Amino acid sequence: MALRARLAVLYTTIVGGILLLLGVAVYGAVSVTLTTQVDEQLRRTYQVFATNLYLDTSGELSLRESLRMELVPGILFQLWSRDRRLLYTNLPQLAQPLDGTGINASKPIWLDSSLRTQSGDIHLRVYSIPLVAGEVDRPIGVLQIATSMAVVDATLTALVRVLLVGVIVSMSVAGLAGWMSTRQALAPLGDVTRVALQITRADDLSRRIPYSGPEDDEVGQLIKAFNQTLSRLEGLFNTQRRFLADVGHELRTPLTVIKGNVDLMRRMNSLDIESLESIENEVDRLTRMVGDLLLLAQAESGKLPLNMTLVELDTIVLEVMHQMKVLSRDRQQLKLGEIDQVLVCGDKDRIKQVLVNLIGNAIKYTPPGGTIVVGLGKDEKRARITVTDDGPGIPLEDQAHIFERFYRGEKSRTREKEGKGYGLGLSIAYWIVRNHDGIIEVQSSPGKGTTFCVWLPLAEGDCSQGEAS
Ligand code: ADP
Repeated sequence: MALRARLAVLYTTIVGGILLLLGVAVYGAVSVTLTTQVDEQLRRTYQVFATNLYLDTSGELSLRESLRMELVPGILFQLWSRDRRLLYTNLPQLAQPLDGTGINASKPIWLDSSLRTQSGDIHLRVYSIPLVAGEVDRPIGVLQIATSMAVVDATLTALVRVLLVGVIVSMSVAGLAGWMSTRQALAPLGDVTRVALQITRADDLSRRIPYSGPEDDEVGQLIKAFNQTLSRLEGLFNTQRRFLADVGHELRTPLTVIKGNVDLMRRMNSLDIESLESIENEVDRLTRMVGDLLLLAQAESGKLPLNMTLVELDTIVLEVMHQMKVLSRDRQQLKLGEIDQVLVCGDKDRIKQVLVNLIGNAIKYTPPGGTIVVGLGKDEKRARITVTDDGPGIPLEDQAHIFERFYRGEKSRTREKEGKGYGLGLSIAYWIVRNHDGIIEVQSSPGKGTTFCVWLPLAEGDCSQGEAS
């Protein structure tokens, strides 16, 4: 059943249930009140009888003549002797007791009874009073006084009708109101389905769901979340598309170089050292790229094996600085800033790799003559490695994406060969740092320079428990 129909049925059932309970309570209260009034009238009538009852000289129950004058119209009565002879009644055609159960009662009792007549059954309320005399309460007979419940029954029947009509009307209105209001409230969900289908059919992630209602209600939030998911998916798809183009380009160049060199040697029919070196370089580059991709796949899935040991970060920084100085070929000034002695738990080679990627990027993107400063410090709980350059900086729109895999800034994408990056360096750094329970941050002012900051937890005792997460 559709959600709308389910909600409408639910509303209807709830309203119906509540009204039904309320109706039963009202019916009960009215019925008890009216019956009590009738009982009270019968009790008052008995008082009249009590003053007109006496025992004659033979010890038989008798009624004074004056009683008839005092009786309220509509009251029926029967006075029975102790041996169940009918002594007095104003309904001579009835030989049976007004109420068969009450006549044998040991104390006064009000009971409902039914009187069969030619025109049908009459519902009676009968008050049966066992009569006693003397000090030992000797039974001398039974008095039964009755009155018709027709008015009470008619009132209750009318009440039931009113309540039933009320329940039916209320249930219909509740169902209709529920149906209408949910139609209005759930209409945007139809839009969600429509747009989702359009996206699937047209393979177009740029579509968004329009919504004009309040943003903070449930549907508004759902649509907002759905649109955010679409934006994220669109971003991921675009990144992957870009990555495929980049990888295609990156693969084609070395393969062309390799093939060119092989052709050349075949034509020359000899092994040329220069061509072999070129082939080797390109193969190295391809191997590096495949290695990076595999590493990233492992790190992202939390399956990166980490050889956790106590690592002296200062030693690592110095080692990498030495190695990178060779790479920069003194085109930039690679300087050591403040350096502390810091111990962390980690995989030495992976941490080195993070530093190589960050300093490598600084060298790659900082123009000749620029300065790159590497620093190492700490606070109470964390080690802080900083790599600062005075290069071109990273545009604000790129900053949010540079740690995504395959993301390359506009400039580095359009850059010819010299960059030789393929947008994996920072993703790898990000995942390695995350696998060490650390964080990596970037601060950059376009035109002024960039600082990458890596925070790692300081070593606390034994390192053997550290694992890739
Ligand atoms: P790439 O292989 O393109 O260098 P990375 O993942 O290492 O990939 O870097 C992602 C992008 O971040 C780069 O394409 C570049 O635009 C930007 N970037 C990284 N480091 C720097 C830096 N020090 N200065 C300027 N831009 C940088």
